[in-house]
Amino acid sequence: MSSTAKYIFVTGGVTSSLGKGIIAASLAQLLQARGFKVTIQKFDPYINIDPGTLNPYEHGECYVTDDGAETDLDLGHYERFLNVRTSQANNITTGRIYNNVITKERKGEYLGKTVQVIPHITDEIKRNIFLLGESGEYDFIITEIGGCVGDIESLPFIEAVRQVKYDLPPNNSIVIHLTLIPYLNAAKELKTKPTQHSVKELLEAGIQPDILVCRTEMSLPMEIRKKLALFCNVHINSVIEAMDAESIYDVPLLMRKEKLDERVLAKLKVQSKEEPNLEQWKSFLGKLKNPVNEVQVGLVGKYVSLPDAYKSIAEAFVHAGTRNDCKVKVKWISSEDITKDSVESVLRGLDGILVAPGFGERGLEGKIEAIKYVRENKIPFFGICLGMQCSVVEFSRNVLGLEASSTELNPKTKNPVIDMMEEQKKITIKGGTMRLGAYTCKLKKGSKAYAAYGESVIEERHRHRYEFNNKYLEQIEEAGLKAVGVNPDSNLVEIVELKDHPWFVGVQYHPELKSTVLNPHPLFVKFIEASLEHKKSVNK
Ligand code: GLN
Repeated sequence: MSSTAKYIFVTGGVTSSLGKGIIAASLAQLLQARGFKVTIQKFDPYINIDPGTLNPYEHGECYVTDDGAETDLDLGHYERFLNVRTSQANNITTGRIYNNVITKERKGEYLGKTVQVIPHITDEIKRNIFLLGESGEYDFIITEIGGCVGDIESLPFIEAVRQVKYDLPPNNSIVIHLTLIPYLNAAKELKTKPTQHSVKELLEAGIQPDILVCRTEMSLPMEIRKKLALFCNVHINSVIEAMDAESIYDVPLLMRKEKLDERVLAKLKVQSKEEPNLEQWKSFLGKLKNPVNEVQVGLVGKYVSLPDAYKSIAEAFVHAGTRNDCKVKVKWISSEDITKDSVESVLRGLDGILVAPGFGERGLEGKIEAIKYVRENKIPFFGICLGMQCSVVEFSRNVLGLEASSTELNPKTKNPVIDMMEEQKKITIKGGTMRLGAYTCKLKKGSKAYAAYGESVIEERHRHRYEFNNKYLEQIEEAGLKAVGVNPDSNLVEIVELKDHPWFVGVQYHPELKSTVLNPHPLFVKFIEASLEHKKSVNK
C-alpha cells in the first residue's frame, strides 16, 4: 500500500436506488473542478462475474468500457460527469472476486491453507480497492459499494472497508453513508429513525461513517440535522442534505452548496487553494434549463418500459440537445407496437427516429417497418448496433428486393446480409463471441459521419456478435446505402449512410457510451440538428 491516493468509500443504507452513483460522481466532479485527479470504482455484491449476462429489464443497460469490460451503468455516470475513461478495474463484482480466489486456489497458490471469506475474499477485495490507487495517477479514489448496508451479500465488502480504514494512516480514508430521510405526510414530519438504524448497522460492522448524505424530499431543518449528528455521531457540518433534483446534472451544484467537497477535504486533511471551477458545468446547466427549441424524437426499442435499459442513449440526447439549445423529448416506442398498419399512426409527427440496440428480438419486424417509413418519408434516422443491422436488412428487402435477414433472427435466411463472421463462430462460450470494446474506424470524406466527427480516424466501442456481410457490400452500395466507415484492420463495415436522404446514419458501434456533458457525441449532436431542420421544414 505505497499509494499516495486518498480513499473515499460511499455506502448506502435504508433502501437501494438512492443514487449513490450520482452522489459519487458529483463529489468526484467537485474535486476534479478543484484540479484534483479523481476516479470512481463500483463494487457490486452480486455473483455474476460481470453485468454482461444480466437482463437489462432487471439491471438496466450494460455499459461497455474502452477495454471491453461489460460493466454497471453507474460507470456511465462516472464518465459522463468526469469526462474521463473507466476500465475493467472500475467495476468489480462478488463473482469476479470469488473467481479470482478460486482460480488461485486451483493453482495451489494458497499452499494448502483453508480458503475463507476472511482473510482470502476480503484480501482480494482490498487488492482490488487499491489497484487504481497504486497506479499513482489519482489523488482520490472513490469506491462505491453497491447494495445496502446490512445485506448478507455486501458483508465482505463492508469488512474490507473496515480493514482498509484500519490499515491506512489516519486521514487517508473516509466513509460517506447515503441514507433516506422519509417524510411522513400524515405526521407532517421528516423521520430520522431509519438512518439511525442504518448507521447502527454500520457501527456493528466496525465502521463509523464520517459524513452522512441524506436523500430527502424536503429541506432538512436545523433540528433534524442536529438530531442526526447527535445520534449518528457525526459533526453537524457533516450532515449533508441531498434534495430530490430536477436533473441529475443539478446534483454537483447542490452538493457544492452543502459543502460536501469541503467536508471531504477537511476530513482527509487535504489543502485546496482553488475554489472549484464550475463555469463549464454551469453553462451546460444554463442551456439545459433554457432551451430555445424543442424536438420530439422516437426511440424504437424492446426495453422501453424500463428507460434505464437505454440510459446512455437518453443522456446522450440530453447532451446533444443542450449543444443545440434544444429540448429533446423522447417518445419511447415498443418495436412490437409497430406493424405495417400502425407505423404511420405511431411515428407521425416525430422529428427523428432512433432505432435502438438489442439482442435476438421478436420486435425486429417492427423496427424494419419503422426504418422503411423514415427512409421513404425522409425523416432523420439514427440506427445503433441492431438498429443499423435492421437498416441493412430493410434496404436489402425493400430496395434490392432480396429475401434477406440477419442470421441472428433467421439462421436459414436466403440472403444473410447480417451474419456472424467465421472467427466468431469458432468461439462457442456464450459471451465469448462478442466483439467488445474500442475499435478503430476509418471514415470516408464527404460523408455525414465525417462532417460530424471532423476527422477521418475515430475509435468507438462495440458490443455485438453479428456484422454487415461484405458479400453484399457492392450490391448494397450500388443501390445507394453506402459503407462510409470501415474498420481498417478487418474491413468490417461500421457505418452506413443513405444517399439522397437528409440524415440516415446507421452505426455498428455504440456512440452513446462516449457522450459526456463536456463532449456531447458528434453524431447525436448532428442527429438532433437534423431533427430540428426536419421539424422546421415540415412546419414551413
Ligand atoms: N444482436 C446484435 C448482435 O449481436 C446487435 C447487438 C447490439 O445491438 N448491441 O450483433
